[in-house]
Amino acid sequence: MLGLMQDRPLALPHMFHRAEQLFGHKEIITATAGGGERRITIAEWAVRVRRLATALDRLGIGADARVGTFCWNTAAHLELYLAAPCTGRVLHTLNIRLFPDQLTYIVNHAEDEIIFVERSLLGALWPLAAKLPTVRYFVIIEDGTVGADLPDDPRILGYERLLAESEPFAGRFEIEDENTAAAMCYTSGTTGNPKGVVYSHRSTMLHSLISLTADGPALSERDTVMPIVPMFHANAWGLPYGCLLAGSTIVFPGPNMTPKAILELIAQHKVTLTGGVPTIWMGALPLLDDYDLSHLRALLCGGSAAPKALSEAYREKLGMPLLHAWGMTETSPIATASTVRSHHAAMTEDQRADVRARQGQAFPLVDLRLVDPDTGEEVPWDDQHSGEIQAAGPWVAREYYKGEGGGAQFTEDGWLRTGDVATADSYGFIRLVDRTKDLVKSGGEWISSVELENEIMAHPKVAEAAVIAIPHQRWVERPMACVVTKPGETLTAEELLEFLRPRVARWWLPDAVEFIDEIPKTSVGKFSKRQLREKFAGYTLPETSS
Ligand code: AMP
Repeated sequence: MLGLMQDRPLALPHMFHRAEQLFGHKEIITATAGGGERRITIAEWAVRVRRLATALDRLGIGADARVGTFCWNTAAHLELYLAAPCTGRVLHTLNIRLFPDQLTYIVNHAEDEIIFVERSLLGALWPLAAKLPTVRYFVIIEDGTVGADLPDDPRILGYERLLAESEPFAGRFEIEDENTAAAMCYTSGTTGNPKGVVYSHRSTMLHSLISLTADGPALSERDTVMPIVPMFHANAWGLPYGCLLAGSTIVFPGPNMTPKAILELIAQHKVTLTGGVPTIWMGALPLLDDYDLSHLRALLCGGSAAPKALSEAYREKLGMPLLHAWGMTETSPIATASTVRSHHAAMTEDQRADVRARQGQAFPLVDLRLVDPDTGEEVPWDDQHSGEIQAAGPWVAREYYKGEGGGAQFTEDGWLRTGDVATADSYGFIRLVDRTKDLVKSGGEWISSVELENEIMAHPKVAEAAVIAIPHQRWVERPMACVVTKPGETLTAEELLEFLRPRVARWWLPDAVEFIDEIPKTSVGKFSKRQLREKFAGYTLPETSS
């Protein structure tokens, strides 16, 4: 016997029309370069989304084309967040921090037909235009910066003019199949090229709903939310979509992401909830006393482990510890959060701080298991045994775009292998203890150890090199290069860095270079990063380190 409920697609048009109809009076505020701001109501924003929908049609952008964005967190970006998927196209948020080769690869792999780019970011994108044959238009969004003259090229269009020349789409947006792709985001791999994660309308709607639940961000109409985490990073953890569903006021920080600018916005707009990586909260900590932050009710922290001491410092200063969550681009990203539960009530404050430093318990609809990588067996949730976290759920990826790059990252029974290693207590509160993926996460962005090693080993005097992550006060992790020189050769750290400078992004340069006699190997002859990490445990970076 079948249920007799209506089969309505879980699709973004519902989110758009709900926001337009119920929350038209609410505001979206965007900070612009130079200290200004732009305010629009949701009603005005909705008209702009409707104009943008028409504009995409007018430009002849394909029915399911990838619509690239190279943008800050702004209201215009949110217009694209809805206009692309509500018209059946696929929003493709591009990471503005990637360096040219990766960016070129990603745009070409996704075959973006059009890219919307913020004025201040055009300088990073336009030099690649000749290598991006699928991109027919670059649409410039003015963000308050005064740049050099725009290139005189028929592919360059102005966003405001495009909207002004396009009538608002008059009907209701329809997406019949909720499994249609809505958005995509590339994530760095350990080796090889970045991999495309493709969100569906259904996964996006379900994930947005979870951000309204009480043991998570609990977004409500009464909130004023500022997503600091970039909108190109797993859709800013889904916060913008969650806000539209809940009817929250939204504050976008725009291009200026300094701790001072962020705290000013929180104080000025009485922000109640905001979210960012630990580096953001570390940077803001010394300045907290200078601002009235009394309206804040939650500081979401994820992307890297939220250190206990940092969270406690916030509890002491603001009466509010960090709300620690874990997830990945592949999990949309919210998968777990560590809120204190009834069974923690009898604990001391210090014990509760330990709970909050864990990555926490899975959200409804997310299943997790911990699997011993050697035996393939699940390990018990006894807080002793550790295993790789495997995840399953309706907003967890089942494969990468074009099936590329990551077949090994999914199990035969369809679970995602996360590459994170954890223990769990009997309540399923996980605690990350290690990572099998060979990456360094610096300030919320990935550095591929393997790629960096390859560049180092390209130096004629280097025999072997291994890169490991070492803890860093501000960036959480920074790369350290462990280098073995060829027999009879001598090399200095500065010589090596000089060699690397033109080859890798500036923020990839190792903060420390250690010359050693040999890289320890595993039984099968691979570099044993574990032994290296043990060898350098407790290593402190030189004072001058970034
Ligand atoms: P990304 O796909 O770039 O969002 O990165 C996801 C990865 O970041 C995870 O697989 C973890 O390795 C790491 N990560 C995310 N959140 C946390 C957290 N709360 N604690 C520790 N690591 C985290």
